[in-house]
Amino acid sequence: MYVERLVCVNCGNEFSPDDVVYECRCGSLLDVVYDYEEIKDHLDIQKFRKTPPTVWKYADFLPAPKKVSLGEGGTPLLPCKRLGEMLSAPSLYIKNEGQNPTGSFKDRGMTVGVSKALTLGFGMVACASTGNTSASLAAYAARAGMRCFVFLPAGKVAAGKLAQALIYGAEVIPIDANFDVCLSIVREVCREAGIYLLNSVNPFRLEGQKTIAFEIFDQLGRVPDTIVVPVGNGGNIFAIWKGFMELREVGLTDEVPRMIGVQAEGANPIVRTLVAGSRELEVVERPETVATAIRIGRPVNWMKTLRAIRESGGTAISVSDDEILRAQEILARVEGIFVEPASAASLAGLKKLVFEGEVEKDETVVCIATGHGLKDPSVVTSRISLPEPVPPNMDEVFRRIRTRM
Ligand SMILES: *Cc1c(COP(=O)(O)O)cnc(C)c1O
Ligand SMILES: [Zn+2]
Repeated sequence: MYVERLVCVNCGNEFSPDDVVYECRCGSLLDVVYDYEEIKDHLDIQKFRKTPPTVWKYADFLPAPKKVSLGEGGTPLLPCKRLGEMLSAPSLYIKNEGQNPTGSFKDRGMTVGVSKALTLGFGMVACASTGNTSASLAAYAARAGMRCFVFLPAGKVAAGKLAQALIYGAEVIPIDANFDVCLSIVREVCREAGIYLLNSVNPFRLEGQKTIAFEIFDQLGRVPDTIVVPVGNGGNIFAIWKGFMELREVGLTDEVPRMIGVQAEGANPIVRTLVAGSRELEVVERPETVATAIRIGRPVNWMKTLRAIRESGGTAISVSDDEILRAQEILARVEGIFVEPASAASLAGLKKLVFEGEVEKDETVVCIATGHGLKDPSVVTSRISLPEPVPPNMDEVFRRIRTRM
């Protein structure tokens, strides 16, 4: 392990990577810092180039030894020519994170986070979740033989994600409140009860997620110009940016992409904060959007998010629920990629960015498709109705087909 220390992103205070600490005395979150010179010296570039991408291929850049895995990472980077041409962004790629073991990028964080929990000697883990975090943590806890508690906003979690948490045997605790409240409750529970917390306030979890950047670099053979990411708590956009910064740090590239965050109009605190040019977070008290995975009004990683966006020369934009659902449908119809609404926000955002002249034709753009569409099938079945049944009679069947041709 080349991990050196934990550093507060606000005041620079330092902690040991063996401390169980999620925040600094100043209240801000921590980031993991490595000995990059050591990593550089030990990196075998030839071997690195030949090994196919998975999360643990990048173990030198990770803070814990591999203890629990379900084969996460190695998701395809799909060139989308037809869709790209429709959107006037011909060098468009989709990184399809829905192909992870539980169907979202959260698995990259959890394989590392739960491995760290085992290393620290914990027997219990917990999280608050809009759905995917709980599905992922429940799976990795099951595989590690740990107890798992998940706190969910009651009635606001997509059916597929809830089914996952239940079948993997997590203790599901629905709370009559939104995600932001669930998170403050679980933070206190973990502090009091000796349970390891695996929300994105946990600095080690985000380390797993930065492998998205390493894989994009591996698969594309270079750094793209622009990365478009849906933003909820804002941990993932920071993790991806950090991954690219580290590639530069160890001398594999000189480039860093521009990071663009996309939020839903009804849950857009990061966009508001950027527009206001504010030093404090512009909280959205009652976040609402069909994209439940990003229905967050008080993103805990807001400082990290703003840093990734500002230092990379990026931006953040909002899209409406209608734009999100149309993007979800077009991605499925034109490219055969079925994502959940939050993931479609990145594509909806790209469409807007092109329209506003923010993204130009010759740019290589990677949209992160964060989660699988089957997580939330009711969004589709409530929008697109099933045709009336046809009697089992060839004349009737041909009549139906002709009306459709
Ligand atoms: C968690 C999640 C997000 C948001 O990621 P943050 O790190 O919270 O910004 C977006 N899409 C999906 C599908 C998710 O599960
Ligand atoms: Zn601090």
